[in-house]
Amino acid sequence: MKLASRTTRITPSPTLQLSATVKALVAQGQQVFDFTAGEPSFDSPEEAKEAAYEAIRSGFTKYTAVTGIDDLKEAIIEKFQRDQGLTYSRSQILVSCGAKHTLFNLALAVFETDDEVLIPAPYWVSYPEQILVADAKPVIFPTSESSGYAINVKALESAITDRTKAIILNSPCNPTGSMYDRQTLEGIAQLALQHNLLIISDEIYEKMVYDQHRHYSIASLGTDIAKHTIIVNGVSKSYSMTGWRIGYAAGPEKLIKAMGDIQSQSTSNPSSISQKAAIGALRNSDAFIQHMVKELEIRRKAIVEGLNRIPGIHCPMPAGAFYAFPSVGQLLGRRFQGETLSTPLSFANFFLKEAQVACVPGEPFGSPTHLRFSYTGTLEVIEEGLQHLSEAVAKLE
Ligand SMILES: *Cc1c(COP(=O)(O)O)cnc(C)c1O
Repeated sequence: MKLASRTTRITPSPTLQLSATVKALVAQGQQVFDFTAGEPSFDSPEEAKEAAYEAIRSGFTKYTAVTGIDDLKEAIIEKFQRDQGLTYSRSQILVSCGAKHTLFNLALAVFETDDEVLIPAPYWVSYPEQILVADAKPVIFPTSESSGYAINVKALESAITDRTKAIILNSPCNPTGSMYDRQTLEGIAQLALQHNLLIISDEIYEKMVYDQHRHYSIASLGTDIAKHTIIVNGVSKSYSMTGWRIGYAAGPEKLIKAMGDIQSQSTSNPSSISQKAAIGALRNSDAFIQHMVKELEIRRKAIVEGLNRIPGIHCPMPAGAFYAFPSVGQLLGRRFQGETLSTPLSFANFFLKEAQVACVPGEPFGSPTHLRFSYTGTLEVIEEGLQHLSEAVAKLE
């Protein structure tokens, strides 16, 4: 049997693969300091669980409306009004099986052969792959750590061609933790209006923001840009509900309708029980978020300071999300037991073997010099893991 060519265009999610490797090592009884997780380590909020128990008890266990139940759409509409001052109607909201699924529906609804989609790098691993599945072309727009991964709007404009259809923004960003300031967003909004681009704004980490930083949605900058923007969000990260699989989109009615039609012929509705749980979280779990973010803040400081104490590793303080993204640029080319370590991937393998530390190499995020460390684990794991890391780096020739 010959498989479809799209199967060879894409690579399976490297982060999920790595997590599987770590789980297998742990199952064999090996100690692993795991920094690969793309999810918070906290339990889901009680309010979500209670709503789910009640859904099961009351028999709310059948198909629902494909695009999500009205009550959840209302809770999402309230969220946008409360947090971003944005007004949406139900026909502008789509609930899907996780934000990844939201983005997949979106890619299929908007992109086709020869379309170009601008993605600032470093980027979340799934963006380019989903665009490739939709037969379109990801166009990577590089940004650098030295400028805080900021987008230079002039440079961005020169990357726009008459085939550019959309740009993907992810602030706070996975993997860098960087955020766009208001001025940059205003510049990008102007470009989008001038060149008739769709802005895809992935705001899944909007609640995980530290220090003086503030999350702005580009859609909140004006009604014109709101019409050109689709916001993607979900309960996975904010409420530590990755397993429940609820993501959502808010945007132009025509686009939401097309995404819903695609969903109607693939997954149908997201789980009825999870939808009820998401309502419980969105309406009642503010205190949960505050507690989690406070904890993450402590871990963020511990990991960034610890990484910076290791000679050759350099790590900026991330503004949001829950990832540290240190550079091993100064260590590239060093040797261990006669072997030259010249890529983040070779360092990730070295760290796993010599330090029992699992992290994600930068290559699939579009970075040839960095590694991603998730800091959702406990402080003990962070501190012990860093100690092992430091000892391993000291062994490099
Ligand atoms: C985790 C993540 C998602 C997807 O989350 P779901 O669990 O599918 O809701 C989307 N975008 C980014 C940047 C993420 O890190």
